[in-house]
Amino acid sequence: MSRTKFFVELPVDVPIDSIHPDHLALCAFLVIRPWVNKKLTFSIPISQRFADGLNKCNFTVGPVDENLEPYLPKGGLSYMGLAYSGGADSTAALSVLPKTTIPIFLDRPKMENTLYSKEAAIQSCENLKKVGYQCLLIKCDLESMREPLGFPTDLSNGVPAILLAQKLNLFAISYGTVLESMYGLGRLKFKDYEETSHKRMWWDVFESAGLPLTFPIAGVSEVGTELICSRSNIGSIARSCIRGTASEPCYKCWKCFRKLTLKQSLDLGAEGDEHLIGLISNKEVRTKLSKMPISHENVLLYAFSKLEMSIYPPGFSTRFSHNLDLDYLEKWYTPSKAYIDSKIRSEVISNINQYISPMQEREEELVKEWDNQVRIEKLIPLEYD
Ligand SMILES: [Zn+2]
Repeated sequence: MSRTKFFVELPVDVPIDSIHPDHLALCAFLVIRPWVNKKLTFSIPISQRFADGLNKCNFTVGPVDENLEPYLPKGGLSYMGLAYSGGADSTAALSVLPKTTIPIFLDRPKMENTLYSKEAAIQSCENLKKVGYQCLLIKCDLESMREPLGFPTDLSNGVPAILLAQKLNLFAISYGTVLESMYGLGRLKFKDYEETSHKRMWWDVFESAGLPLTFPIAGVSEVGTELICSRSNIGSIARSCIRGTASEPCYKCWKCFRKLTLKQSLDLGAEGDEHLIGLISNKEVRTKLSKMPISHENVLLYAFSKLEMSIYPPGFSTRFSHNLDLDYLEKWYTPSKAYIDSKIRSEVISNINQYISPMQEREEELVKEWDNQVRIEKLIPLEYD
């Protein structure tokens, strides 16, 4: 922890005392969670329901105001909020959520000594507004609370949405978490999300703040989110590179390498090979490629099995060789429907089915059988030159 304060610049018609105390407390908790052990005292009292939610996760919290009504969206129209980043995953999430979903972008101020550029993401938000979304950009520097700079918890990018929940009458908060992160497919082995500490930690806490979680694309791989974006009418708005300009990605970073490789393998890349060749020689890309395993290795295994390998250095063929059937990554893993709020579940499922097919039983078994450990142990890290 490198600082003890952060700011969020909310619209002028949202004074701090109009925000539900449980939502303020949830935001504080999301940001400081890594440094809290057992006990937490908030500067304003919270409801009994929210305190109970945190108690369930073994945190002793207070003070409690017994007269404070827990948050409940008002009658009439209520909305889904989405922590929106501008990338392919959250744009795919928005594509399958109800059309009235409100995407909320955490607008991080430009910090010195970072390559971060928000131009592309801001352009995505502007384009969403043009097609009728009530997209909101909220300035917030919570990423500077830690060193190195970044989100203290993976759900803390939802802080602006949570703070606006009462104002916008939100009934839930959604995130663009993908299959690789949700079920361990981006790592060595499948893990059942239901059994994870993430599930135990966060679902009750959000629920007790009156803002249940929704992960609409938890069963969709990065392969699937690219497919959804290529087929959805807002898909072309997505920009994954956070170092490029509004019109062009940087063609230097790891994200660019992964996304470009994947797009080429799906025949969605219009960029051609020259950018890829440039990316392969980039130092950051080389470092990431020499890792064992590489992050989201399953996606690269899928992509390279579809690509002509002659443009790549010789070591690539061995490093990415496998005899796995990974075509299931083009489809969605249906047990993930448990993580879609029941109010919108059938609508989201029917939207996903418009873009990609559900996995067959045998393919769902393949997801559960994902284990890259033995394959990795037999390999030597990728070196080239
Ligand atoms: Zn880039």
